[in-house]
Amino acid sequence: MPRYDFRCRSCGDTFELSRPMAQSNDPAVCPQGHPDTVKLLSAVAVTGGAGGGAPQQPAGGGGGCCGGGCCG
Ligand SMILES: [Zn+2]
Repeated sequence: MPRYDFRCRSCGDTFELSRPMAQSNDPAVCPQGHPDTVKLLSAVAVTGGAGGGAPQQPAGGGGGCCGGGCCG
C-alpha cells in the first residue's frame, strides 16, 4: 500500500498515512485532530542549499480552494 505525506496547516505538523491509491485524494486528519491538511508530493523532496528555488505548483488545473479539502 502506498504511503502519502501530509502536512497540517493548523499546527504545521507533517505525517504519513498508508492508504489505497483509490483514497489518495481523500482528506486526511492530522494526528492532533486538525482536518485542515494538504497532501505532499513525496517525490519532490528537494532539500538543497543555494540555487533553483522553483515554486511549488500543483500539476494540472485545480479547483482553487478545494485542493486540500478545505471546503468539506
Ligand atoms: Zn494539526
